[in-house]
Amino acid sequence: MRALLGGKGANLAEMARLRLPVPPGFTITTEVCTYYYDHDRRYPPSLRAEVSAALRRLEKALGRRFGDADDPLLVSVRSGARASMPGMMDTILNLGLNDTTVAGLIRASGNERFAYDSYRRFVQMYGDVVLGLKPESDRDPDPFDALLEAKKRARHVHNDVELTAEDLRELVTEFKALVRTRCGVEFPDDPEEQLWGAIGAVFGSWNNPRAVTYRKLYGIPGDWGTAVNVQAMVFGNLGSDCATGVAFTRDPASGERSLYGEFLLNAQGEDVVAGIRTPQRITLEASRQWAREQGIDESARARNAPALEEAMPQAYKQLVGICRTLERHYRDMQDLEFTIERGRLFMLQCRVGKRTGLAAVRIAADMVRERLIDERTALGRVEPDQLDQLLQPVFEPRAKEAAVREGRRLARGLAAGPGAATGRIVFSAGDAEQAAGRGEPVILTRIETSPEDIRGMSVANGILTARGGMTSHAALVARQMGKVCVAGCEALEIHYGKREMRVAGRTLNEGDWVSIDGTTGEVFLGRIETHPSEVMQVLLQRSLEPKHSKIYLAFADLMRWSDRHRRLRVRANADQPDQAALAVALGAEGIGLCRTEHMFFEGDRIDAVREMILAEDAAGRERALAKLQPMQQSDFVGIFRAMAGRPVTIRLLDPPLHEFLPHTDAELEALAAKIGGSVESLRTKRDAIREANPMLGHRGCRLGITFPEIYRMQVRAILEAACELTRSGEPVSAEIMIPLVGMVRELEALRRDATDVATQVMAAAGAKVKYSIGTMIEVPRAAITAGEIASQADFFSFGTNDLTQLTLGLSRDDAGKFLPDYVDRQILPHDPFAVLDVAGVGELIRFAVERGRKARPGLKVGICGEHGGEPESVGFCHRAGLDYVSCSPYRVPIARLAAARAALER
Ligand code: PEP
Ligand code: MG
Repeated sequence: MRALLGGKGANLAEMARLRLPVPPGFTITTEVCTYYYDHDRRYPPSLRAEVSAALRRLEKALGRRFGDADDPLLVSVRSGARASMPGMMDTILNLGLNDTTVAGLIRASGNERFAYDSYRRFVQMYGDVVLGLKPESDRDPDPFDALLEAKKRARHVHNDVELTAEDLRELVTEFKALVRTRCGVEFPDDPEEQLWGAIGAVFGSWNNPRAVTYRKLYGIPGDWGTAVNVQAMVFGNLGSDCATGVAFTRDPASGERSLYGEFLLNAQGEDVVAGIRTPQRITLEASRQWAREQGIDESARARNAPALEEAMPQAYKQLVGICRTLERHYRDMQDLEFTIERGRLFMLQCRVGKRTGLAAVRIAADMVRERLIDERTALGRVEPDQLDQLLQPVFEPRAKEAAVREGRRLARGLAAGPGAATGRIVFSAGDAEQAAGRGEPVILTRIETSPEDIRGMSVANGILTARGGMTSHAALVARQMGKVCVAGCEALEIHYGKREMRVAGRTLNEGDWVSIDGTTGEVFLGRIETHPSEVMQVLLQRSLEPKHSKIYLAFADLMRWSDRHRRLRVRANADQPDQAALAVALGAEGIGLCRTEHMFFEGDRIDAVREMILAEDAAGRERALAKLQPMQQSDFVGIFRAMAGRPVTIRLLDPPLHEFLPHTDAELEALAAKIGGSVESLRTKRDAIREANPMLGHRGCRLGITFPEIYRMQVRAILEAACELTRSGEPVSAEIMIPLVGMVRELEALRRDATDVATQVMAAAGAKVKYSIGTMIEVPRAAITAGEIASQADFFSFGTNDLTQLTLGLSRDDAGKFLPDYVDRQILPHDPFAVLDVAGVGELIRFAVERGRKARPGLKVGICGEHGGEPESVGFCHRAGLDYVSCSPYRVPIARLAAARAALER
């Protein structure tokens, strides 16, 4: 009944139903809140009578009366919305105290100091929350705290606990005087009046600016409203046989199946979270480990900071039993709050506990083994993106916290390639190679990256750029290589000439250490310790035995279940044999995109590529291409072999030629010396090739149309590689893919060419290999004319990077500058280069799939843009009936899980 009672109210009622020790109380429903806002902040007419009746029942159950002078009932008044909104709304504790009832509380508790401490806290909370007594400005201290501090100074003490009952009594009087002067009202003494004030304040807090912002952030509807929970107070601060704490039924960081939590003796709930005192551990084992980490010896630990297990063994045992009951009931890890009053345990709250990705995987897999949930439920319990945490290197969490504390966080960019990296700054790909050659870890720091930087990128520990979006070159290459990358970090001012970078008022030089977190986009000054994930130690490095890694075993279970339930196939974008092997290890069933241009930057191949581009005529081009062919061919052999018969989609040359051109005069001279010809003529040729709008220019299949010999060479290399493997009995499945097709005639011409070459190669080799020819759909016209295009294509692969760019008219390399404003102002729900624009680009995809399959039944359809590894977009691909998604190797497990979840959703 979460919708009606709110999360807190529903779970309290549920715990009561399970006969767990919950202090009695009642819940005013969210419907009342909705009514309140719909009726000009008035309550439904029957509410007063109902609250009154509920209060009388509460009094009867406890044998105490609200406002009683001898043994008063005190209550807490707490908010609780349908979705948890931690700390966003208001709470009031110890309600019902006044000068008369406090005397009753002293008598009943036999503890004067406790009674006045509770009274003091109540006046302060009520003054703040209900009467609105706040600091004058952000810079001023809380006015109540100022009085408290003054009192401590006057008494020459440091801690609140050192104040006497008399001091606290005086504070109550001073607090009330403050209310009188600042608010112009008397502090209400009548408990009923206090209660209605508190109920109104909690309903009111539904619309405080904090709550409104939080709802916007998490998409919680404004008309859900909050419930109000009125509950008898129990006290964890009555003496040393009292305590209060929070616990998780399993470790929320590691997922380990052991009670995890903290408590404070003789304290009230907010003290645990406020960090005034250091809380103690609940289990003996955790307590001992904590002491070891702190360098505290065992006897000191047992004396000063014993575990709950030691300090209150009875209550501990009961807590362990309750945790088990709650897990069995909710079939999920629970986060709970408890209080122990004079040795008696009370449950104040329980809810599904938040957890890390690591813990999510462990807990889901363990619970299946424990028969608490089935594997479908387990798949629903892990967000696909959480798997990143299992694959990427990570910062040592404490080291990162320390860096934040020390003010070493410099800036934040786009979280473009997850994981953690630390290294020395270098500003060019060449410097990166040199430094890496000396064994130095480097962070390649660029204003933006170009394909030329690829070798520098591949040796760098991490990549940091000032410009570029989620599908910028840096981002997609980084993800494919599994490199940590923070892109589009606009706060960086990079001066290549001076070899320095300015950020956050500091100047960093080449060689300085920085650390980047590609999972959050944060950039830090200095080193932060990192380590490879356990799962990768098993999968790739093989430095850990599977059976010794519980997290690996849990991950493997989750992947096996994903594969059992998904319909979509999952391939990887890879263009090197080692990337292909990585992809297979991570579960890829093929390669969906091998970008052949990436191979053009290996070693000194770039020279042959430049020679080809700058050639005067077809004969010159053929000569250069003849140098390139054996190199491409050996790459393809390596990739085919790594993929062992799984389908490999190889895309023919795509980027605009000028991306390969020499930029500086020095580069031009070196090239002229190597390939012959004058510097002047090379320069003229280069300048002639330059385009104003290269992304819309001479690229993709347009290159194939004007320079047919380039694509012919590539097709020959593919087929000769395939024949080579076939002859040695190794299986191959080659798919040749033509990029940027917009008109069927383009594809028709290029297909004919490719088929001719393939036929010739096979005839010459005396071999027959399995190959097909298809196209990318990345120009809107291709999507719209998909029926015609399908007549010439064995398969479609949606290149959603370009399709998004061209459909929205947004440059994929530059839009990062202003897209955040679009998302902030909710003009777009997400960055469309990260999460597929279902309403626009998605419609084009659906249309093209339908038209394509109508024209050619059984047409194979996939996606190879970056969206292929983004969970929401994978869900769309499933629903749109695609055959496969293709993504960077590290996202393969994410796509497998996302595909299974999409299939189960259906
Ligand atoms: C695409 O456009 O989605 C695609 C995969 O090709 P590229 O990113 O290489 O342009
Ligand atoms: Mg493209």
